[in-house]
Amino acid sequence: MASAKEPGAQRYLPERRTLGALREAAAQCRGCTLYRDATQTVFGEGHRGAPLMLVGEQPGDHEDLEGHPFVGPAGRLLDRAVRDAGIDPAQVYVTNAVKHFKFTRREGKRRIHQKPGRTEVVACRPWLIAEIDSVRPEVVICLGATAAQSLLGPSFRISTGRGELLCLPGLAGSNGRPRVLATVHPSAVLRDRSDQHAQAYEAFVDDLRIARNAVTGGSAPLVHPAV
Ligand code: URA
Ligand code: SF4
Repeated sequence: MASAKEPGAQRYLPERRTLGALREAAAQCRGCTLYRDATQTVFGEGHRGAPLMLVGEQPGDHEDLEGHPFVGPAGRLLDRAVRDAGIDPAQVYVTNAVKHFKFTRREGKRRIHQKPGRTEVVACRPWLIAEIDSVRPEVVICLGATAAQSLLGPSFRISTGRGELLCLPGLAGSNGRPRVLATVHPSAVLRDRSDQHAQAYEAFVDDLRIARNAVTGGSAPLVHPAV
């Protein structure tokens, strides 16, 4: 166990690294200051062995209140895109780079999302790494810059690196798995109200399809029966 002075989530990690034990321990995490104002830790969901892992930025307002990742408007768009990419949602583990909601209050009313800083992303990274170690996905899909920079480093840019299958630095096994692919965040697609919206959505689905096609020999078919 790391020293109590060490900032970050590392010292809250349990010895047993099952998803259940991790989830329970993460509920008590005080690895950065975000636990103070948020309602609860929003841990990842899905099963061990899921071939695909989706990593968002942090829970939003809905997720914070409900305790589940991607249950708000961005989650609905993501769910549609996953199905349109021919991926069975049951074969996906969904989580976030940061597990607590960061926000400011406008005149004490509406909570406004704030982007997590590098300190919080680094503090929370041990949970994400533990989830990857435990789930052992074939491909990790980073949704947006926060997730991508957590796993690929702060100089990674979605604008130049999206849609490419990369190795996960320091984590890939001898088979080169998991691979990692970065794409845009679904809320960026949602916000795009220009006449490019349809193309933005299609490009997002295309990236998810690249990830799906990189899954090899999985025992369960990834194509959803309804697709
Ligand atoms: N946006 C995210 O990045 N994650 C969520 O869980 C919801 C919205
Ligand atoms: Fe711990 Fe992450 Fe929450 Fe910070 S955001 S308190 S590191 S779970």
